[in-house]
Amino acid sequence: MKIDVLTLFPEFFSTLKDWSIIGRAIKEDILNIDYINIRDFSKDKHKRVDDYSYGGGPGMVMTPEPIVDAIDSVKTERSRVIYLSPQGQRLDQDLVNRLSKEEHLILLCGHYEGIDNRIIDHYVHEEVSIGDYVLTGGEIPAMVVIDAVTRLLPGVLSSEQSFTEESHYHGILEYPQYTRPYDFRGLKVPDVLLSGNHKEIERWRRYQALKATYIKRPDLLKKANLTEEDKEILKAIEAELHNRS
Ligand code: SAM
Repeated sequence: MKIDVLTLFPEFFSTLKDWSIIGRAIKEDILNIDYINIRDFSKDKHKRVDDYSYGGGPGMVMTPEPIVDAIDSVKTERSRVIYLSPQGQRLDQDLVNRLSKEEHLILLCGHYEGIDNRIIDHYVHEEVSIGDYVLTGGEIPAMVVIDAVTRLLPGVLSSEQSFTEESHYHGILEYPQYTRPYDFRGLKVPDVLLSGNHKEIERWRRYQALKATYIKRPDLLKKANLTEEDKEILKAIEAELHNRS
């Protein structure tokens, strides 16, 4: 996959190329990321890229021309132009899955009060938000997208790190995980995990995954693809929690 990040702050991303899974994906040529400084496309003698908002109001707006020139410098027929924006579709695992199948993402980071709306209307394929709050710029959201997408690229995660059991991949949360020591200050790891009985462990994990989802994110259960067995497990979870209270 190729990702071009259009930003006023390319230096913001300097650590990404060596960082963990993203660093490995870059080294192994699974991912190729370039950072394009929108300011380099300013024709203003002071390299300005912002101006006042028509109609008044506080703050500055990023001007359209340098942004379009920056987009045109990297765009091909197969590019998907994404504007990181608090007004966009909220990023979730389904959206990450879809984006991970693209060949070329152009991630446009806004700053100030945002960008001239004509860019959104005519040059952007979609707006993506990382949550219902406003950040100072699109750089952190772009990093979030890069990280989440990179994990799904074929060959990036080893089989032990497989993403298919992680939270959200199948619409529910992941089961709880434990590591050594077995006894931490009197708190013991559930014995089933040491039993060596893989069927039992699998069953326990499914129960715990559904229970975690039921308790922490019941909204996810409404749209999750649950089997008849899952529904039975959920009834048992309800009974367990009811009996406990
Ligand atoms: N005036 C804009 C509004 O109210 O919709 C917010 C502008 S924000 C201060 C500056 C930039 O940060 C935006 O152009 C966008 O690129 C980025 N940004 C802020 N919050 C974001 C979020 N939740 N998700 C994605 N990008 C965000």
